[in-house]
Amino acid sequence: MADLATLVTTWNYPTRVRFGVGTVGEAGEACRAAGITRPLVVTDPGLARLPLLDRVLEALRSAGLEAAVFDGVRPNPTAGNVAMGVEILRRDRHDGVVAVGGGSALDVGKLVAFMAGQSRPIWDFEDIGDWWTRADPAGIRPVVAIPTTAGTGSEVGRAGVVTDEATHTKKIIFHPGMMPRTAILDPSLTAGLPPHLTAATGMDALAHCLEAYCAPGFHPMAEGIAVEGVRLVFAALPRAVREGDDLEARGMMLAASAMGATAFQKGLGVVHSLSHPLGAVYDLHHGLLNGILLPYALAFNRAAIEERIRRLAAWLGLEPRFEAFLDALLELRRTTGIPPTLAAAGVPADRLEELARMAEKDPTAASNPIPVDAAALERLYRQAIAGELPSGMPT
Ligand SMILES: [Zn+2]
Repeated sequence: MADLATLVTTWNYPTRVRFGVGTVGEAGEACRAAGITRPLVVTDPGLARLPLLDRVLEALRSAGLEAAVFDGVRPNPTAGNVAMGVEILRRDRHDGVVAVGGGSALDVGKLVAFMAGQSRPIWDFEDIGDWWTRADPAGIRPVVAIPTTAGTGSEVGRAGVVTDEATHTKKIIFHPGMMPRTAILDPSLTAGLPPHLTAATGMDALAHCLEAYCAPGFHPMAEGIAVEGVRLVFAALPRAVREGDDLEARGMMLAASAMGATAFQKGLGVVHSLSHPLGAVYDLHHGLLNGILLPYALAFNRAAIEERIRRLAAWLGLEPRFEAFLDALLELRRTTGIPPTLAAAGVPADRLEELARMAEKDPTAASNPIPVDAAALERLYRQAIAGELPSGMPT
């Protein structure tokens, strides 16, 4: 624990959140409150074909707003993808963005609104040091964010992820002004998500809560949010996977997702360091990878987190023991259909050295409870491929 008598730090809390079934109907009011009169709706081509998007457009129309749709968001968005949206926004003089979709659509929507009035290239605003101060805050357009998955929590975040095609790496673009003005969490929008995507995205929310809770540093507000987020996922994810239109479970997962992204300003850890390179190289789902990796990372970090995991276990109504929590986590992974090993997800063992070097460079490695190097990360990859938990527990 840091010396609190001398600690100086920053805690950031998110935006206005409208929560509840039917709140998508308030998209127009949310735009008006944010000063948006000509919104550009940013989404992906899959969603653009669903009735769900019509509900958003109808809500905008009924508030008298003239909206246009940019549906060019790719699953792993590139800078070119963002630039296309910016071009349309500028050409048709949109004064704000309504971002609708999963993490990629929300990120691109936020980035389009951010880049709308910037003259420098997007890479100048990578999340490094104080690079964000290079941006002209007056050029940032307001955003209303409407998630249709429950996992990334991008609707309450101040950053967006873009793939740099030149280096095949994912980069984080950050600015405090990228935070949406209103996040609309309407559980009915996630009800149509198929079970495997519900499980994978839900595991991302869990990974955010759990890694933030375990990251070192003094941030009791983030920790409080994280532990309740973990509880919501354990209570709701199996229900949401089993019964897609259980709106109570869907609502709990949307809340947990926003809570995870709020909490992870405290830091993430090796689950994310290991999953980012796998996602980039093998194009596997981020949340699915996190769900597979969580128990291995937990066991690896045990010496540093045992005490706090006992407290978490007690909060979940389990026996206050590390093993009880790990057991419950393995059970959650089973009941939600997440594979037990990386091998089962199709990850071969032939590039682990290279992947481990990439994982070591990932910014999330620095906030893991136990310091890691490439060798340790490679061992973790091997364990997660073979299904070996160091504690000797069955996977
Ligand atoms: Zn994540």
